[in-house]
Amino acid sequence: MAVQTVATTNGSAGSTGSVDLGPASGLSCRECGERFDLGPIFACEVCFGPLEVAYDVPSGDPEALRERIESGPENIWRYAPLLPVPADVADKPNLNPGWTKLVQADNLARELGVEAGKLFVKDDSGNPTHSFKDRVVAQALEAARAFGYTTLSCSSTGNLAGAVGAAAARAGLRSCVFIPHDLEQGKVVMAAVYGGELVGIEGNYDDVNRFCSELIGDPAGEGWGFVNVNLRPYYAEGSKTLAYEICEQLGWRLPDQIVIPIASGSQLTKIDKGLQELIKLGLVEDKPYKIFGAQAEGCSPVSVAFKAGHDVVKPQKPDTIAKSLAIGNPADGPYVLDICRRTGGAVEDVTDEQIVDAIKLLARTEGIFTETAGGTTLGVAKKLIEAGAIDPSLTTVVVNTGDGLKTLDAVAPTTGMTAVIRPNLDSFREAGLA
Ligand SMILES: *Cc1c(COP(=O)(O)O)cnc(C)c1O
Ligand SMILES: [Zn+2]
Repeated sequence: MAVQTVATTNGSAGSTGSVDLGPASGLSCRECGERFDLGPIFACEVCFGPLEVAYDVPSGDPEALRERIESGPENIWRYAPLLPVPADVADKPNLNPGWTKLVQADNLARELGVEAGKLFVKDDSGNPTHSFKDRVVAQALEAARAFGYTTLSCSSTGNLAGAVGAAAARAGLRSCVFIPHDLEQGKVVMAAVYGGELVGIEGNYDDVNRFCSELIGDPAGEGWGFVNVNLRPYYAEGSKTLAYEICEQLGWRLPDQIVIPIASGSQLTKIDKGLQELIKLGLVEDKPYKIFGAQAEGCSPVSVAFKAGHDVVKPQKPDTIAKSLAIGNPADGPYVLDICRRTGGAVEDVTDEQIVDAIKLLARTEGIFTETAGGTTLGVAKKLIEAGAIDPSLTTVVVNTGDGLKTLDAVAPTTGMTAVIRPNLDSFREAGLA
C-alpha cells in the first residue's frame, strides 16, 4: 500500500506537520471536483458542495490485494488499504467494529416468496454498540487523532451518540454529544453509560444539527471533532466497509439487489461507492446491481422526491417511531436519488404499523431482533417484493443497522407473556399449553 503524507493547511485543532491517513490523498468536492489537502473541512471553498476523501488507489494485482484482505483481522481494518486510516490502525485502542454476520435468511425468504438461498440479512446489530454507527465513528476517530482533536462530538438521532461515547472512552478522549431530548430510553442510557457528556436539545434532530454547526464556528467548539460535521468526509467512508464485507461474504460477488435505510443518506451513498471501488479494483466481477432506499412514512422526504421524479428533496418535520432515521432534511438526499435511479432501484416508505410488523417478522423467522430502522428496511423490502420491484429470483441483501433492545417501546405494546400461571401442572393445563 502506498502511504502518502499530506500537510494540513487548515483547521483549528492546532495540529501541525503531516497527516497520515493511509491511502487518502486529499479531499475532493462532490459537485465541482476541486481538490483540497486533508484537513477537518467538509464544504468546498469554491461551490460549498460536500467534500469526500480522494485516494491513491492501490495498484497492482487484484489477487494479491484479495489475499491481503483475507489474511487481515476479522474487523473493518482488514480493508485498511481502502480507507482513510494509517496502516497501523489495528494496533491502536479502538472498538474494532465490523465483520458482522451475513445471515442466509431462508425462513424469511419462504415467507416473502423469495427463492431459497437468495435472501440475506447483513446483521450490523452485532457491532460493539449494537448499530452500524461503530463503523463510521472508527474512521472519524482516526481523523480526530490525525488532526489533534481532544474532544469527540456529534449530533445524533441516538445510535451515533452511543458509538461516539464508547469510542472516545476506549481511545481516552473526552466526548460531549448532542441528541434530541425525547429519544427512546434505551438510546439515552446507551449513550450515557460510557461516561461522556450527553446533552439533550429541546428540538428535533435537524435543530440539534443546526446547533452543532453553530458550535463549530464558535470558540466554545475549538478543539472539537464533530464526527458527522467537520469530520464528515472521513466518517462517511466507514460505510464503505458494509459493501466490502457483503461482497467478500458472498464469495467476492456483488449482490443483485440491496435494501438500505436512509437517515441522512450517507450510508446508502457510501455503500454504492464501496461497490464501485471493488469493481474498479477488479475484486468483483463488473455487473449491474440495484440499490433500494428505505424510509418511514413519517419521515419520507427522499421517498416522496423519488416518486414525484424530483431532483431536490423537500424537508419534512419527522413524526415516526423510526427515530434513528428521523432526519427531515437529509444532507445526502439528492445523491441517494441519483444512485437509486442510476442503478434501477427505488426509494420506498412504510407506515409505523408496517415497521412493527416487520420487526416481528424478522424475529419470528430468523431469530434476529432489529430496531425500528431495521423494521423500516425489511418492511420496504417486503413491499417492493410484493410490488415486483425486487426480483425474488435474484440475490438480495437487506441491511439491518441496529438492535431491537434499544427500541423496546416499539414492540412492547403488542408483545408479552402468553399466560401467567401458578407453579403447578394443573394450572399449566388449564392455560391450554399442554
Ligand atoms: C444512522 C443510522 C442509519 C442511517 O444513517 P445515514 O445517516 O443515512 O447514513 C441507519 N440505521 C440506523 C440504526 C442508524 O442509527
Ligand atoms: Zn465544489
